[in-house]
Amino acid sequence: MDIQTVGVVGLGNMGLGMAATLVRNGFRVIGTDVNAARGAAAEAAGVRFIPAPAEVLCGADALVVSLPLARDVEAVVTAEGGLLARRDRKVVVIDTSTSDPQTTRRLAARLAKAGHALLDAPVSGGPSGAAEGTLTMMIGGDEADYALARPVLQAMSARAPHVGPSGAGNIVKLVNNLLVAAHLVTTGEAMRLSEAAGLSAEDAAAIVNTATGRSAVSEVMLPRWVLPGTFDSGFSAGLMRKDVRLALDLAAKTGTALPLSAHVGRIWEEARARIPDTADFTRMADYRITEGDA
Ligand code: NAD
Repeated sequence: MDIQTVGVVGLGNMGLGMAATLVRNGFRVIGTDVNAARGAAAEAAGVRFIPAPAEVLCGADALVVSLPLARDVEAVVTAEGGLLARRDRKVVVIDTSTSDPQTTRRLAARLAKAGHALLDAPVSGGPSGAAEGTLTMMIGGDEADYALARPVLQAMSARAPHVGPSGAGNIVKLVNNLLVAAHLVTTGEAMRLSEAAGLSAEDAAAIVNTATGRSAVSEVMLPRWVLPGTFDSGFSAGLMRKDVRLALDLAAKTGTALPLSAHVGRIWEEARARIPDTADFTRMADYRITEGDA
């Protein structure tokens, strides 16, 4: 069945850019957000803003969800009078939120019983990737549902591989973000050492980025947001903390010992006074801070 109207639930830093990208790619886009103030920016991007989520859930051929937490996704998707009651067509929910595989599998099974489908489709690439349609997406779910959602996935991403069954996308996203959380800590520490020893972070980073210590943090985040001190990547420290917690929860549930990652998790939690949840997550690599356990 053709997808003409896409509903976007959550028009925040990521959802708004995705919705605008879908408009540019010729889809009719309807969107909703609990924060009605997001309506004006959505309308300016060509999205029809509808405050009532049920109308979006019932009026779209496919749904893109971009919400902070797994429980937000579950509440919206299973709300009374919404998707579970719909019988007119099969709707594929593309959940781009960073979520946990257990919630995803439970939701996917519930939607399948109602004749719908849920793909876990977490993303990497930040608000600019969302706005430009160049995200990397990692998809978990049935192959057939992946094929159904393909036109929407292709519009939003530079790549969107099918990783495996339901929850597989979440697993790889949590693995990825656990690495990013650690790299932010280690890159900040390494740059602090360089400055303390007499070589500027700029000069050190330029060499590291042609050598073996580099990562996306040193190659992209450091020059874009940390060295100039702008710290405006559009991803909050609170959401990064959530991702680290989800990864460490998954480690606990699978009985996997991750001693260094557990310490990274503690560093993120203990930095709360200096880097509150509302701050940009790239502040964790701020090498200029010297006090305490950065
Ligand atoms: P955000 O806080 O900017 O946006 C979330 C939006 O959802 C807000 O506008 C909020 O008002 C809305 N919302 C919350 N509960 C709602 C509900 N019940 N119904 C409707 N709207 C609701 O967050 P974001 O940075 O856009 O992140 C969204 C998701 O994408 C998160 O799971 C995050 O971890 C993930 N993510 C973010 C980035 C990034 O760079 N920002 C990158 C990759 C993944």
